[in-house]
Amino acid sequence: MRAIECPCGHRLEAEDDEALFRAAREHVDRDHPEMERSDDELRARVAADAYDAGSSARA
Ligand SMILES: [Zn+2]
Repeated sequence: MRAIECPCGHRLEAEDDEALFRAAREHVDRDHPEMERSDDELRARVAADAYDAGSSARA
């Protein structure tokens, strides 16, 4: 699992970075339309900030 946290505090989780990007796209479109993030900006955000979640030892 991969995860990323939106600045609003909402945590997004998905199978991989591509699915995480789609989840972020939906979240931003629904909750933060004023951000006007492009797909490229969201992909860059996921690439920079997403982290492994779930199966690792991370608590
Ligand atoms: Zn948010």
